Amino acid sequence: RILERFLEHTGLDIKIKKCGGFFLRAPNHIVTVNHCADWSIHSTPIPWIDETQSYRYLGVDVSPRRGILPSDPLKEIMPLLRKISKAPLKPTQKVKMLLTYGIPRVVYGADMSLVGTVGLRRVDLEIRNAVKSWLHLSPSTADGLFYSSKVDGGLGLPRLEKQIAICQVKRWCKMMQAKDAKCKVLAPALLPKAAIAKRWKAATEVEVEGSLQSSLATTDPAVIGRKWRVSEFERWCGLRCQGRGLATFARDPISNYWLGDPWGLHESDYILALQLRSSTVSTLTTLSRGRRRNATCRACGRGWEGIIHVVSQCRSLKKNRMANHNNICRLLSIIGRTLGWEVKREKRITCPLLGTAVPDLILTKNGRGLVVDVAICYEVKPATLRRRAVSKVNKYDKFAPSICNTFGLTGVKTYGFVLGARGKWYEGNSEVLNEMGLPRSRKKALAKLFSLRAIRGTTSILKVFKKLSRS
Ligand SMILES: [Zn+2]
Repeated sequence: RILERFLEHTGLDIKIKKCGGFFLRAPNHIVTVNHCADWSIHSTPIPWIDETQSYRYLGVDVSPRRGILPSDPLKEIMPLLRKISKAPLKPTQKVKMLLTYGIPRVVYGADMSLVGTVGLRRVDLEIRNAVKSWLHLSPSTADGLFYSSKVDGGLGLPRLEKQIAICQVKRWCKMMQAKDAKCKVLAPALLPKAAIAKRWKAATEVEVEGSLQSSLATTDPAVIGRKWRVSEFERWCGLRCQGRGLATFARDPISNYWLGDPWGLHESDYILALQLRSSTVSTLTTLSRGRRRNATCRACGRGWEGIIHVVSQCRSLKKNRMANHNNICRLLSIIGRTLGWEVKREKRITCPLLGTAVPDLILTKNGRGLVVDVAICYEVKPATLRRRAVSKVNKYDKFAPSICNTFGLTGVKTYGFVLGARGKWYEGNSEVLNEMGLPRSRKKALAKLFSLRAIRGTTSILKVFKKLSRS
């Protein structure tokens, strides 16, 4: 009657075919369905939903007797993955489309209908496989690349098995801790104990201690599963091959900036950079993993063809490495000149006692000098870049008096300016930019630019290597 009056007032009409209703009664504890006279609106009967049927309501299917029916996220995600695969989009656009429009479509139903962990794991697997094929990543690429957060160097993809469980446990924590009196009474009665206990384990990685009900009532929902991405990253770092040198990228928004925003990277470079970061670039070493086989470098014929050899040792790619190094020097000298320094590149400094040194850059301004030598090195260990910077300082600091004499300076400071071949921004470089007088506001943007240049240099080496190793 309320609805009829509403329709009369507003002049609206109702599409009765799209309506549905069911009526549950339990006289003598036996539940009956639709055991009553027809319901109607303006004398048109509303279709009954019987026990064999269900009705889609707020994104889930509801059956009169069974309640919310389990959704089938695998069946829902597969056609979406197929459609995105076929779409004429760039690889990174496909990933973005999946994250923005694809996955959210299956999450709500799976969450509300308590889809089991095994089912969600299958969905995660299919999503990972699709992303791997779009981004041309090896099937053996570790999960860490997909699930670590971007600030740690991962793609930050959702993992339904984890996130849905976390969401459910959090919601039940909030229900159990609700201020509302009715909610407090109802929540324990409605709690699906077995299902939520399993979710507790998935969300927190430990079995529930003591009673589930009291754990839910006393745990701060904000802490549930808070560190799951960190755990993914730690597992990734722990891998013998794919985890090598990754710890250095933890909590580094500068060196990982490109992951979230492929700005400045061509698609092919972005893909190669992902392979680089996860140590899955195809070399004889990665191809023959587990099998003994001749892995002599196909490009130079000397040395073991692993990623470090290709990027930083291979003789056939020396020219390309020099070019990358010079690119960084050029960028640094442009910044220097913009800030009013006089810049000398590769100036020979001779000292009767120490011999000759050729630092990459000598910057002079108002009687002060900065000696900067640039290096790009592969991030093998967290200390690799710092060690290289220190060795640069040790090498050139001795020449400080000769440099002062040559240019009539009152003092010079010596620095190593070191970048990682996989894009690591060495924090010590910031001090060089400081000394050069770069405004604080521009430092971050430039650091990102240097990191990107280093990555692009390495990906260009990999492209040349691919050609050489094929011929
Ligand atoms: Zn080689």
